[in-house]
Amino acid sequence: MDKKRLIQIFEDKNVGSVLIDEPMKNHTSFKIGGPVDIMILPRTEDEVKLAMKLCKENKLQFMIMGNGSNLLIKDGGIRGVIIKLNENFNKVEVKDDRIYAQSGALLNAISRIALENSLSGFEFATGIPGALGGAMTMNAGAYGGEMKDVVESVRVLDENGDIKEYSNEEMNFRYRGSRVSDEGLTVLTIVFKLKHGKHEDIKAIIDDLTHKRTSKQPLEYPSGGSTFKRPVGYYAGKLIDDSGLRGLRYGGAEVSKKHCGFVINIEEATCKDVLTLIDIVKKTVKDNFGVELEREIKLLGEEL
Ligand code: FAD
Repeated sequence: MDKKRLIQIFEDKNVGSVLIDEPMKNHTSFKIGGPVDIMILPRTEDEVKLAMKLCKENKLQFMIMGNGSNLLIKDGGIRGVIIKLNENFNKVEVKDDRIYAQSGALLNAISRIALENSLSGFEFATGIPGALGGAMTMNAGAYGGEMKDVVESVRVLDENGDIKEYSNEEMNFRYRGSRVSDEGLTVLTIVFKLKHGKHEDIKAIIDDLTHKRTSKQPLEYPSGGSTFKRPVGYYAGKLIDDSGLRGLRYGGAEVSKKHCGFVINIEEATCKDVLTLIDIVKKTVKDNFGVELEREIKLLGEEL
């Protein structure tokens, strides 16, 4: 479909902000990715619904994203539409020991709000640079905690555009997966149930985990976080280190010297640089240890 017609579909409709030919590198933590034809940033559930309806009616490919911290976008960008649920869709409310949040709210914001209200349970998620929708999709977790431990219920739009509400048990949370990824749901709002605690105890845990993260992870460089899933019985970073790949560079991409489980964008890396480096790492680890590393970061878009 030509660009003019594509723009007309969303022009003057109540779908929120509409960006055209928007560089995806401005919306991903990897700082990589060519332009998406149309990016929509809805502010309300009705706007999310309408944006999806227009995409479907016009047979347009669309995808939901949050804060782009688990995405690697190809250099040719994305044909179609990205519906970004993040900065325009991030209202949060606290009532007693529950937090009610729109899916675009950042995990760090929820962690801060929980601390301000002396609510405990969410500390583990401090420093995960994603929004709640992405966290529900992959049951984000760290330092022994995961979303499964703190979610009470999740409101979603299903493939037909109907609103459904699922309890924690119905979400099928597991390591890096959930009902959201199984069924292609769109997460709208989440209810977290936390515990009343002492402000200083919660702060101490947050400070400790923040120190662990900043001292061990290459947060000074753009990346998509852990590049690979944890293989059963192993640690990806150790397998990569033991294969002698620490600091290996291809183009602008590097196996982090600080944490081998991270491929980082050290100097204007292209998606191709990152993918080539990932292939070298996978092959070397397979040859050395017989372990098949699986990419955790989601790959989207088309080549240049
Ligand atoms: P995006 O990257 O925008 O999207 C990821 C997936 O979620 C896509 O498939 C997208 O379609 C889907 N999605 C996003 N929003 C919605 C929605 N509203 N409804 C339906 N689907 C949606 N992850 C961890 O689990 N633990 C960690 O400790 C951790 N550390 C990290 C450290 C760094 C430095 C970085 C860069 C990443 C790290 N991550 C970690 C990965 C990432 O932050 C999480 O996976 C996060 O939950 C992704 O959220 P996002 O909003 O950025 O999702």
